[in-house]
Amino acid sequence: MSATDESGTTEEFDATTESVLRTDGLTKQFGEFVALDGVDLDVSEGEFRSVIGPNGAGKTTLFNVLTGALSPTEGTVTFRGEDVTDLPPHQRVRRGMGRSFQISTVFGGLTVRENVRLAAQSVVQGRGEIPLVGRFLSPTDRFEAVLERTDEVLADIGLADRADDRARNLAHGDRRRLELGLVLAGDPELVLLDEPTAGMGSEETQRTIRLVEEVLSDRTLLLIEHDIDLVMNVSDSVTVLNRGQVLATGSPDRIAGDDEVQRAYLGGVRE
Ligand code: ADP
Ligand code: MG
Repeated sequence: MSATDESGTTEEFDATTESVLRTDGLTKQFGEFVALDGVDLDVSEGEFRSVIGPNGAGKTTLFNVLTGALSPTEGTVTFRGEDVTDLPPHQRVRRGMGRSFQISTVFGGLTVRENVRLAAQSVVQGRGEIPLVGRFLSPTDRFEAVLERTDEVLADIGLADRADDRARNLAHGDRRRLELGLVLAGDPELVLLDEPTAGMGSEETQRTIRLVEEVLSDRTLLLIEHDIDLVMNVSDSVTVLNRGQVLATGSPDRIAGDDEVQRAYLGGVRE
């Protein structure tokens, strides 16, 4: 296995760990406009990778192509050694790709436990072919697996004692925990979060990033975030996208000291 084809791969995460997600020459055009331009990524097992870049850099488009919401114009997406480029989103989820859920997927009228159980169920039982947690199990055992997974998630997100509260009554921070719990429910190998801090003030943003780090610490994480400063303390490695291209990938220190990155940010549009 080689991670050296990516520019400036970090010391901690090359050659020794297995590649979970890889893209080769990933390109996405909207008509004449090139939103992604030959993106090569290699994310290792257990890595916390942040993808940053100015608004319009192509971060969300990358996310959409990775999860299968959009098909690339060119290039491939490899997930755990399998070419998933042509697979629909739910088949990627089944293989262990965890999408970030939108806020609206929390059902305010249901309890915290019910919300988590629904999320676990939709991944464990919802499809003909059973992934991960529920594979090889009878329907009854599968239901047991869902309940078990629900309890694990409630413990992981620190909401076991709020399990019977209605989601709408949660404090804001607890609601964020629950949202992460919904992602965790399917026991994903890789979690993709697209700007989970969108619309937050700086303090809440810091808290959310720390929460992501805490709750998802044993997963492979791809965090899309537009603010370079925020992710520096928590990421193992950072990829900078600019105009659809990978400008640099490296350790936070390396990225922070990169002149080209600084120029892209100073020249780019920032909120
Ligand atoms: P980011 O998430 O980094 O802010 P996006 O991936 O959302 O950037 O957008 C990258 C560029 O692609 C932008 O110029 C945006 O206008 C364009 N774009 C994104 N989605 C579409 C689409 N469905 N059709 C046309 N252009 C799009
Ligand atoms: Mg975006």
